[in-house]
Parts: sequence; C-alpha cells; structure tokens
Amino acid sequence: MSAEVINGKELAQDLRDKMKVEVEALQAKGVHPHLTVVLVGDDPASKSYVSGKEKASSEIGISSEIIHLPKETSEEELLDVIDDLNNNSNVHGILVQLPLPHHIKEQSVIEAIDPKKDVDGFHPVNIGRMMTNQETFLPCTPYGILTMLKSCHIDLEGKHAVIIGRSNIVGKPVGQMLLNENATVTYCHSRTKYLKTYTTKADILIVAIGQPHVIKEDDIKEGAIVIDVGINRLEDGTLTGDVDFSRVKQKASYITPVPHGVGPMTITMLLQNTIQTAKGLTASEG
Ligand code: NAD
Repeated sequence: MSAEVINGKELAQDLRDKMKVEVEALQAKGVHPHLTVVLVGDDPASKSYVSGKEKASSEIGISSEIIHLPKETSEEELLDVIDDLNNNSNVHGILVQLPLPHHIKEQSVIEAIDPKKDVDGFHPVNIGRMMTNQETFLPCTPYGILTMLKSCHIDLEGKHAVIIGRSNIVGKPVGQMLLNENATVTYCHSRTKYLKTYTTKADILIVAIGQPHVIKEDDIKEGAIVIDVGINRLEDGTLTGDVDFSRVKQKASYITPVPHGVGPMTITMLLQNTIQTAKGLTASEG
C-alpha cells in the first residue's frame, strides 16, 4: 500500500484562486480587505513568516501593511498600536507575529486584539466560541488541517483521532475541532507514557511535535491518515517533518508531506479569515 499524498501546496493554490475572485467581488462593492501585521524585533524566522503573509495577501488582492516595531518596544506601546488598529475601520484583520520579546506578555497582547479582527483565532473569546462549537475565527493551522481532511472527503464522524502535541496554536485546537466534527479524540504530549500504544490505534494521526522523524511506520496502524505539522530544518538546510515520510507513506492511506503540506494551508486560512472579517462575518459563516 502506498498512501495518497495530500498536496497542501496545490490545494492552497486552488483555494487562493477562488479567494481572488471573492476579493474582486468585495472590491467592486467598495470593500477593500486589509490585513495589518505587527512585528516586534528582528527575529529572522518571524520576518520571513511576515513577508510570506504579505506576499500571499497581495497575490489575491488583499492589501496588507507591516508595522515593524523595534525590539525595545514596551508592552504599553504595543497595546497602544493595537488599540489604534482596533479603532481603524479600514483595518479588517490584525495579526501580531509571535513570539514576542520576553518583556511583553503575549497573552495580554492577544487579548487586546478586537475578537472581530482576530484573524489568527487566538483570542479567548474566539477560542471559547470554538470550544462551544459556534461560528468563529478558527486558528489557521488547525483550520488548514481540517480543510485538507475535508478536501479528501474523509468522513470524520466516529474516527479515532490521536493528536501528538498540546500547544495552544496547533494541538489543542485541532483536537477540539475534530471533536466538533464528531471524531473521538485522544491527546498525547511529551509526558505521555507508551506513546505507541495510542498512535497505533489512530485512524487519524496528527503530529505536531517539532522533532524530525519521531513517527515511524511501526507507530501507525495500517491505513491510517497521517497529518504531519512539524517543520524541522536539518543540518544540510532541508526541511522535514515529524514523520518519517517515505516509510510511513507505505503503510498509511493518506499522508501530508513536508514541505508542501500543512504549511501553505496555514497562510491560506489566514487569508480566508481576513476575507471573512472584511465581509463582517466570522470564519465559518458565509
Ligand atoms: P510546541 O513546541 O508549542 O509544542 C510541541 C508539543 O509537542 C508539546 O505539546 C509537547 O508536549 C509535545 N512533544 C514534544 N516532544 C514530544 C515527544 N517526544 N512525544 C510526544 N509529544 C512531544 O510546538 P507547536 O507550536 O505546536 O509546533 C509543533 C511543530 O509544528 C513545530 O515543528 C512547528 O514548527 C510546526 N508548526 C507548523 C505549522 C505549519 O503551518 N505547518 C504551524 C505551527 C507549527
């Protein structure tokens, strides 16, 4: 058996082509979707993520602006910037690139963003709405994962989904979203004992650890659906996931590659959330 590879790059492009048409229709009605990204400091990875978001936005006609603040910016100054953006009706989506310098409390910043402009879906109001299965802005990476699964017409109801990783941005929300789809969800993490006991029982295995090739073919059930969220840079500069792709592919039914898997979907769902804010809707409406 060799798994079907879910090509996130192609799916992302299809979705972005459709979004471009949607943005044109909004512009014809005088609505110009606008995303503002706030970057504090000079972390090279953050800078590269931010410019990727800017490029992807402009390709589909969403205007974007990067507010680049020095790393010495105080929490109060940053909160003032967010307040101005909250009150600016031309700004539809606000994203503060994480991580922030250590002297700024990330949670205070996340909570300062108007939940109606929270295109990252990290505000507790939006997380609470997701937990209670209401319309909301869904966090982009889990939203991308769900979109990938649905694109393959995978019926999630009653499936046993095992999530490895419990971060606030990937592991926890993806489990909740699968629960909302009537999957049975098990969470595993760094303190889980006998990890393999759980992974080998998964119909859907979502791996969000951040360590190369932790999951081997012996760790999965024959025919499992394997979603690899991890992004790891090896010494030779290549990117790889948390899953030993070439071997696991022989046993899985579906698998996502790294690169060109979940990564391109994350930015795509950010664009989707930005369009939804411009329409005055939450992510899953409309
Ligand atoms: P994180 O460091 O916040 O969380 C990692 C999780 O893995 C933790 O919950 C930890 O308990 C668990 N873990 C660590 N070692 C483990 C082990 N040996 N066994 C079981 N669980 C273990 O990371 P994150 O922000 O959730 O990101 C995870 C990975 O996904 C990273 O590689 C990150 O770069 C990548 N990522 C990719 C995208 C994307 O768009 N593709 C988006 C976000 C994160």
